[in-house]
Amino acid sequence: MSDMLNWLAGAVGGTYGNFIGGEWKPAGDKTSRIFNPADRDQSLGRFADSGAAEVDEAVVAAHKAWLSWRQVPGPDRGAILFRAADLLEQRIDELAFILAAEQGKVLAEARGEVGRAAKELRFSAGEASRIDGDVLPSEKRNGFAMTLREPIGVVAAIGPWNFPVVTPVRKIGPALAFGCSVVLKSSNLTPWSAVKLMDVFRDAGVPAGVVSLVLGSGRAVGEALIRHPLVRGVSFTGSTGTGVAINSEAGRRLVRTQLELGGKNPAVVLDYDNAATIARQIAGAAFACSGQRCTALSRIVVLEKNARELTEALEAEMAAISVGPAWQAGATMGPLITAQHKASVMGHIAHAREDGATLALGGTSMEDGDFARGHFVAPTLFTGVAKTSRLALEEVFGPVLAVVPVGSIDEAIEVANSVEYGLAASVYTNDVNLSLRFARESQSGMVHVNHGTASEAHMPFGGVKASGFGAYSIGHSNQEFFTTVKAVYFQS
Ligand code: NAD
Repeated sequence: MSDMLNWLAGAVGGTYGNFIGGEWKPAGDKTSRIFNPADRDQSLGRFADSGAAEVDEAVVAAHKAWLSWRQVPGPDRGAILFRAADLLEQRIDELAFILAAEQGKVLAEARGEVGRAAKELRFSAGEASRIDGDVLPSEKRNGFAMTLREPIGVVAAIGPWNFPVVTPVRKIGPALAFGCSVVLKSSNLTPWSAVKLMDVFRDAGVPAGVVSLVLGSGRAVGEALIRHPLVRGVSFTGSTGTGVAINSEAGRRLVRTQLELGGKNPAVVLDYDNAATIARQIAGAAFACSGQRCTALSRIVVLEKNARELTEALEAEMAAISVGPAWQAGATMGPLITAQHKASVMGHIAHAREDGATLALGGTSMEDGDFARGHFVAPTLFTGVAKTSRLALEEVFGPVLAVVPVGSIDEAIEVANSVEYGLAASVYTNDVNLSLRFARESQSGMVHVNHGTASEAHMPFGGVKASGFGAYSIGHSNQEFFTTVKAVYFQS
């Protein structure tokens, strides 16, 4: 049996409550179970199904803790976060097993996610020592003027199920660095990772109440958090529909939001030396996390003259993808998160066929043998996808790639931009002027020249149009969300 299965056998079946004011609370009578997406009958544990009362308790504790935490010198806050990053790395085996068990991604990806979270946390820890402020000339002869950046207060962090370790860390790290406190609501499909993260922050020395976790549904916990009068900011990652609803609710109270939303990210292939190299990069960015990444490449916009060669190279690359549960040696792509999400992805596939796209590879629900125990879908490639079809325009959030042929470079850029989203885009070309033109004209938050849509741990991360709102996360841009500016005037 694999290490992960051995470990899981002894670890499943726990019951978990909320982490509030530095203490684990009993789960109470109302709990819900989560299941392994690669083995639908395996219950992983029971998690509190909380409501407005628990949210109030956590936010009040977070507000009280914030009043002290904001006084802790930035470098000292940073030192705690550096320790938390070390702990993430020390606990990588356990965290990766939990993440893979509840989310479904293969172990190499799960370990990669934990490692990435540690990297981002170290960047945030450093930010605590470089919070900006300006000293400016005064209009007065004996005066001077300055600006300070101050923490906004209690932040509600609401996360999705696809990256249950890195997304909470991406919110908690900068919040704490800039002197805010946080109440986290993780996705109720992946609460186990969040539970373990609370232990990491507590053990690193984060004072009681500065980080709390309230487990439960979006309706009960998420909405109560957004409406709570002591919450001053909402950092949300999830679907565009939920983000828009959160933004209007927060707007009523003039509470700021940081929204990381959906995507329909193009790989725009203009010219290349070697189709196989490009295909490898595109497949990596399309099928990681079974395509359930906001920055997944989901459409390839390619000049008609290259479409056939590139498609063949992609087919060869995709044939090497090994679908299986996280614990299977050699598996490179796991299942989808739930049966419901799988049905939605299969619906997109059925619709693309009706729309006249050519199914080049996959397109099937995988049901043979042990595959029937999980929510597996074969890596899927459609060619000849019309630029106005649903598959070319809508987020699928699964292992489905669409090849959209175009007649010219102008048309390629127009098609790349002709969706409601604007998160990430890749362009492939050896022509430096073309790459610069694409970087200028692409309507997206992040542009990648000659590689897939993989971001880095210190660079601003976010999207435009329906893909995001508010300050970008990760990079120095975070300070625009987590702090307010105060203008101070002196006269001697
Ligand atoms: P979702 O919008 O369904 O849920 C996200 C979170 O919001 C969950 O914790 C959920 O419980 C909570 N929620 C739901 N309704 C709520 C409400 N009314 N008030 C407050 N909270 C509420 O998204 P998901 O299905 O978990 O994640 C998939 C989506 O997330 C995809 O669209 C994907 O593109 C997007 N995503 C974006 C990024 C990014 O950085 N841009 C990263 C990951 C995922």
